[in-house]
Amino acid sequence: DEARKIPEHFAYYRPSMSQERAEKITLENDLYTAIQDNQLVLHYQPQLELKTNEMISMEALVRWKHPEKGWITPLDFIPIAEESGLIVPIGKWVLETACRQTKELQELIGQPVRVAVNLSIRQLFHENFVQVVRDILKETELPPEYLQLEITESMTMDTSYMMPILNQLKETGVTIAMDDFGKGYSSLSYLKDLPIDCLKIDREFVRNIEQTNSEPIVDLIISMSKHLNLKVVAEGVETMEQLEYLLNSECDTIQGYLISKPIPFCNIAKNLKRLREERKNLQFRTHANY
Ligand code: C2E
Ligand code: MG
Ligand code: MG
Ligand code: MG
Repeated sequence: DEARKIPEHFAYYRPSMSQERAEKITLENDLYTAIQDNQLVLHYQPQLELKTNEMISMEALVRWKHPEKGWITPLDFIPIAEESGLIVPIGKWVLETACRQTKELQELIGQPVRVAVNLSIRQLFHENFVQVVRDILKETELPPEYLQLEITESMTMDTSYMMPILNQLKETGVTIAMDDFGKGYSSLSYLKDLPIDCLKIDREFVRNIEQTNSEPIVDLIISMSKHLNLKVVAEGVETMEQLEYLLNSECDTIQGYLISKPIPFCNIAKNLKRLREERKNLQFRTHANY
């Protein structure tokens, strides 16, 4: 914000800023061809359901393998894709790829697996988004109950516009999760009216569990989820202490480096199998053996 107040002609005093801007423009140009040049890939992060000790869902996370710059995180290119509108084709590619690969994975391991896909607001505002989802489900033959769409609180600010879209999405048979919950400014009064199935507790609150300052918030989100009949997922679980806490608070599902980092598709079947075997030996109580 400080930078924004500096008049344009003083910009040369801050070479890092103009460099940053130039970098952004280069990335945006490169992003135009990223899909057709097969530079985007999805990694999948497994989620562990604590009640059953089952690993039956995963989140799809996009990565960009830039020909010169190497791997670029979504934190660096999703904002550029959103600003430029490229998020519409990229988001569609992500959705289509996630559904196709999940279907393939289900057939490979002979077990149902659910996939969660992140959405951007521009996708939801784009006409025909609901039809895009329907077409992809049909074309990939993934049964809709295995697709979860992740939205964030800020996307639901314009409730009168968003509510019918979310309802139409629900009618296709998919589920909807509220990602990064607690970070935004959801009004509790409309949270209960949103057609969502799941709240994902923001990583920040999970991270602070050990520092004993975010427990009340975690507890509040979990108990609120129960009252609203929503599933609750804790993101970014890295330590046994966090897991213990979440178990005691009866959180439904966890996701984080403690269980697994996001994995490339080519390794997911092998890793799921190994993780599923490993988790039997995990030295922690689950709801199942309370
Ligand atoms: P998110 O949806 O909240 O995804 C979770 C992020 O937390 C992922 O970062 C994941 O790698 C990271 N994470 C998971 N477990 C842990 C942990 O234990 N510790 C820590 N420190 N981090 C953990 P990633 O893959 O860099 O993605 C960042 C964000 O980019 C995502 O946050 C999501 O908002 C966005 N994003 C990723 N893929 C897509 C996509 O296909 N479409 C859109 N619109 N956004 C995406
Ligand atoms: Mg997410
Ligand atoms: Mg997200
Ligand atoms: Mg999140």
